[in-house]
Amino acid sequence: MEESFSFEGAFPKIPEEFHCFETGKPFDHCIECSLPLIDATESPYIITRALQNSEPILEWAICGDCSERFREEISEESQEAIASFMATAKTGPDHILRSPTEKTSYCYICATPREQLVGYNIQAICSGEELISMQAPLLVCHSCEEQAAELLSKATKDHYDRFFEQHFGGPPGSAVDPEIWKLLSI
Ligand SMILES: [Zn+2]
Ligand SMILES: [Zn+2]
Repeated sequence: MEESFSFEGAFPKIPEEFHCFETGKPFDHCIECSLPLIDATESPYIITRALQNSEPILEWAICGDCSERFREEISEESQEAIASFMATAKTGPDHILRSPTEKTSYCYICATPREQLVGYNIQAICSGEELISMQAPLLVCHSCEEQAAELLSKATKDHYDRFFEQHFGGPPGSAVDPEIWKLLSI
């Protein structure tokens, strides 16, 4: 029987799979502006983690304002391309009814079950210690990320690469395919 899930009443707590790998605790500050995320503010923030063979390879949290500023720099053309690509998702309208754990048990776009995936990104939209999005958390497999990356303009790709350069010392390179970050990156 399929477990149904609703946001009536309290929001669900952030699942442990979205905790920081280094500390084992919830992410506590914005990677860009260092804003405290848990105590000081109720404003939304986004957690993104990339995993390969179940091992975390990169992760961060970014506050709503910084994420917004980042998106403003992305060309309209690229934003439309991302929106159209997300609209091809095979998961259907039942997705939002599922529990947080179920929502990250398959790729949101191609619906491939998580256990069949080698690399994927997961993303949650949170406030304080709670999940606040109906759609998220989401999982997007690296193969779908690569397809999305092909749709983006050079300027947008450079914009993403600068983010990685600033925070991780370079675009995900040798060990990690740089094309797997463009869709759910920020
Ligand atoms: Zn910030
Ligand atoms: Zn996929």
